[in-house]
Amino acid sequence: MDFEIPENLRMITDTVRRLVQRELEPISRQVEEQDHIPESVVQTMRELGLFGLSIPEAYGGLGLSTLGECLVYEELAKVNACFRNRIATNNGIGSQGLVLDGTEQQKQRYLPRLASGQWIGCFALSEPGAGSDAAGVQTTAVMEGDHWVLNGRKHFITNGDIADLATVFAVTDRQKRAKGGITAFLVERSFAGYQVGTIEKKMGHRGSHTSELIFDNCRVPAENVLGGPSMVGRGFQSAMKTLDKGRLTIGAAALGAAQRLLELSLDYAKQRVQFGRPIAEFQSIKNMLADMATEIYAARQMLHHAAWLRDQKGTAVIKEASMVKLFCTNMAGRVADMAVQIHGGMGYMQEYPVERFYRDLRLTRIYEGTDEIQRLVIARELLKE
Ligand SMILES: Cc1cc2nc3c(=O)[nH]c(=O)nc-3n(C[C@H](O)[C@H](O)[C@H](O)COP(=O)(O)OP(=O)(O)OC[C@H]3O[C@@H](n4cnc5c(N)ncnc54)[C@H](O)[C@@H]3O)c2cc1C
Repeated sequence: MDFEIPENLRMITDTVRRLVQRELEPISRQVEEQDHIPESVVQTMRELGLFGLSIPEAYGGLGLSTLGECLVYEELAKVNACFRNRIATNNGIGSQGLVLDGTEQQKQRYLPRLASGQWIGCFALSEPGAGSDAAGVQTTAVMEGDHWVLNGRKHFITNGDIADLATVFAVTDRQKRAKGGITAFLVERSFAGYQVGTIEKKMGHRGSHTSELIFDNCRVPAENVLGGPSMVGRGFQSAMKTLDKGRLTIGAAALGAAQRLLELSLDYAKQRVQFGRPIAEFQSIKNMLADMATEIYAARQMLHHAAWLRDQKGTAVIKEASMVKLFCTNMAGRVADMAVQIHGGMGYMQEYPVERFYRDLRLTRIYEGTDEIQRLVIARELLKE
C-alpha cells in the first residue's frame, strides 16, 4: 500500500492553498456580506484552470483524477463554501454528463468553454414535485420537426442564475420514466423559451446562488440530446452516473471545512482564558478536540480510498461514494457542532467564521442525495452483492 499523494497532485494542492491564503481568505467576509464573488477573483480561478479540473486535457481541462479533484476541494472548502460552488458545477454535475456520455461534436462545442470558465454549466434535475424521487420529474420534451420543445420548471439549481449551459432532464415517455422515458438535453441560455426564475433565499452558502429555471416552449435542436439520438430515454442513467462522482466531491468539501474548524478550535482553545487558564487545559475541551481530529482522520482515509478506487476502476463506485457522502458530511456536522461549543458565545457570533461553517455544512447532508437516500443506495448495493 502506498498512501503517498502523487507529486503532481501535491503541486496543484499547494497552488490552491496559496490562493486560499492570499486571495480568498481576505475577502471571505466581504463575499458573505455582499452575497457575491468579485469578478477579479473569478478571473484568477479561471487562469489557474480551476473550472476545468476534471475535464480531459484534450478539451482544455487539467484532466485531474478523482483524487486530485477531491484534494483541491478540500483546500477550497477551508475558506468558504461559495468558492467551491462556483467551480463545482463546471467540474461536476454541469459537465460530467458531457464527459461520460456526450458525442464528440458536443464535447468539442461545450467542454473547452466550461474548462476555461468562459461558460458556466449547471445541472437541472430537481423540481418542486421531484427531489429525492428524481424520476418523478414533470418537465416534458416533445419532438416537433427537428427540435424538442421543453416545458416545465426546475428549482434549487446551483449557478442557475449565471449558467450558460444547463443539462436538463425531461420526460420523453411518461410510461417508461426512469426506465427509458427520461432524456437529458444540453440547453443553452440563449435558446428561445429559456428563463431564469427566482433566485432562492437560503440558510447559507452566500456568494453562491440557486435559482429556478423555467422552460416555456423552449426549443432545443435535436442534436442537443446529450449523447445523441441513441441516448433518447437514457437521461436518468446519465444523471445517476454523474451524481456518483459528486458524492465524493461533496465529501471532500465537508472534510476540508471540518479540518479548518479543527484548526480554528485549536487556536481558540489555546488563547481563550477562563478560570485563569487557557480552556485547552480543560479535559472536556481536550476530549472534543480529540474527537474532532479522530473523526477527520477516519473521514480522510475513507474519502481518499474511495476516490483512488474510482480512479483505479475507471467506473462508478456507487456504494463507496454514498458511504463517503453520508459519513463525511455527518462527521463535518458533528465537528461543526463541537467547534461552536468550544468557541462558546463567540461560536454563535457572525464575527467568527465557525458560525458560517455551521450553517453552510448543513446543506451537504441534503443536496445530491439526502442522508436517507444515501442509506437506501448503500443498503441496495449490499443486498445485491
Ligand atoms: C442549495 C441547494 C442546491 C441544490 N442544487 C441542485 C442542483 O444544482 N441541481 C439539482 O437538480 N438539484 C439541486 N438541489 C436539489 C437537491 O438535490 C434536493 O433538495 C435533494 O435531492 C432533496 O430533495 P427535496 O429537497 O425535494 O427533498 P424531499 O425529496 O422532499 O425529501 C424530504 C425528506 O424526505 C426524505 N425522503 C424522501 N424520500 C425518501 C425515501 N424514499 N426514504 C426515506 N426518506 C425519504 C428525505 O431524505 C428528506 O429528509 C439543490 C438543493 C439545495 C438546497
